[in-house]
Amino acid sequence: MIEKFNFHTHTVFCDGKSTAREIVITALEKNLRHLGFSGHSFNPTDTDFCMSLENTEKYKAEVMSLKSEFKDKINIYLGIEQDFYSSEPTDDYEFVIGSVHSVFKGGEYLSVDESEKAALNNISSHYGGNAYKYCEDYYKNVAEIYKKTHCGIVGHFDLITKFNEGGKMFDESDKRYISAYKSALSELLKEDVIFEINSGAISRGYRFSPYPSLSILRDIFIGGGKITVSSDSHDKSTVDFGFYESIEYAKSCGFKEVYYLTPDGFKAQKI
Ligand SMILES: [Zn+2]
Ligand SMILES: [Zn+2]
Repeated sequence: MIEKFNFHTHTVFCDGKSTAREIVITALEKNLRHLGFSGHSFNPTDTDFCMSLENTEKYKAEVMSLKSEFKDKINIYLGIEQDFYSSEPTDDYEFVIGSVHSVFKGGEYLSVDESEKAALNNISSHYGGNAYKYCEDYYKNVAEIYKKTHCGIVGHFDLITKFNEGGKMFDESDKRYISAYKSALSELLKEDVIFEINSGAISRGYRFSPYPSLSILRDIFIGGGKITVSSDSHDKSTVDFGFYESIEYAKSCGFKEVYYLTPDGFKAQKI
């Protein structure tokens, strides 16, 4: 029987709605065996959703205290979702998710996951309406995410598709899009990283399928990449959201195992 886990979890210290303690209690009720917290790293280019420097210290103390309080019931890990543009140290964390949430263009940091309206505005004002150029800039950052963050897990590989349900901004089968993601993927496949199947945008009503897309997940499989599954939870109720569905999604692409963190590092679990 597969052991349930989630390593992508946000709390009130950043843009989550629940306290770390509430999440632990819910995770126990939902029979999770392993729970990793991954607050958004302080990012001076966009302070709306990340932890402040003060909250970062509180977050570390709170998670470490819950880890020891609940050690007989659940394995808790202190992690960080390190943004591409963060320069905060990550030495204090047991795992790092490396994530791109924005691109730098024309002297401005443009968020790719703020809203559909903002994304369309950015494409028209900074890319002359060419969404493929926007995707290319995004995937150039993704290609560098391991070098920037030394992450163990690559967060939501194709976050750029958050508002592209039904292909309304660009065609994901267009060769310009495919070549942009493939170059990032081939860079990351050279490193010892784990890609996540992330169901966060489904639970929040933005998408009907997880990140990454089926084509990308197949390419990760063909390239010999490792995967994990996560709910990118921003509320205690979604701590195990889509766990079994994401496992089925992985199996449908041929994967036979998923990775999760143990006290001895990342290990595979058969699925
Ligand atoms: Zn993220
Ligand atoms: Zn996240």
